[in-house]
Amino acid sequence: MTSMYPTFSKTDPKRTEALRSSLAEAQRDVHAACRQADRAPDEVRIIAVTKTHPPEDAATLVDIGQIDLGENKAQEGTPKAEQLRTWDRTPRWHFLGQLQRNKVRSVVSWADWIHSVDRTRLVDAVDRAAVDREISICLQVNLNSESGRGGVLPGDLEALAEHAAACSNLRVRGVMAVAPLEWESERAFERLADMSRVVRRVVPDASEISAGMTDDFTTAIEYGSTMVRLGSKILGRRHGR
Ligand SMILES: *Cc1c(COP(=O)(O)O)cnc(C)c1O
Repeated sequence: MTSMYPTFSKTDPKRTEALRSSLAEAQRDVHAACRQADRAPDEVRIIAVTKTHPPEDAATLVDIGQIDLGENKAQEGTPKAEQLRTWDRTPRWHFLGQLQRNKVRSVVSWADWIHSVDRTRLVDAVDRAAVDREISICLQVNLNSESGRGGVLPGDLEALAEHAAACSNLRVRGVMAVAPLEWESERAFERLADMSRVVRRVVPDASEISAGMTDDFTTAIEYGSTMVRLGSKILGRRHGR
């Protein structure tokens, strides 16, 4: 497979400064949202979503201390993560997108976390692929069945959690959702907090709530998010899509 990023050179200083300042602003804003919600700032981790941005940006983020990085497509994340293996410090990669079973093996070779696990056959495929390494997973919930996004329906979440909890190579860490476009974000994140309680009845320490993107992270933090997934807020406009 040829890489979609054949060259991997040092990022120019201007871009480094831009990333440094947008990352610092994101951290300030996340901390402010935590204060507003009466929560400790270290309860919320930032995942910088590098999709559509070149590996140079990902490497620069790692250099300036942003270790948690996210990608949403196997065909983009796999070569990017591969290129970053040559970097001094390796990121902690989070896979966030729809995952087909035939891509599981390649994603498991670089991702430490998979946030988008939403069906038993996918649970089994990740568990099988994760030999000699433990993969942290979040169970993605489809909050509005009308809208047909990825995710397990709320009524099937408990059974999925039980199934995943029995897999020896997986660690069930919590829940994930993308707020439905047609809902107020408050409603979405409140509902996700309920879903988190469902999972914690099965796996008591699965306390992570992966929720909140550039446009709604403040609300997500108000409703208990522990991981905000910030793309354009840190990296700017996406290339292509
Ligand atoms: C792209 C993406 C994000 C980041 O989106 P922004 O609005 O740019 O912050 C977060 N989560 C998932 C699942 C994504 O695909």
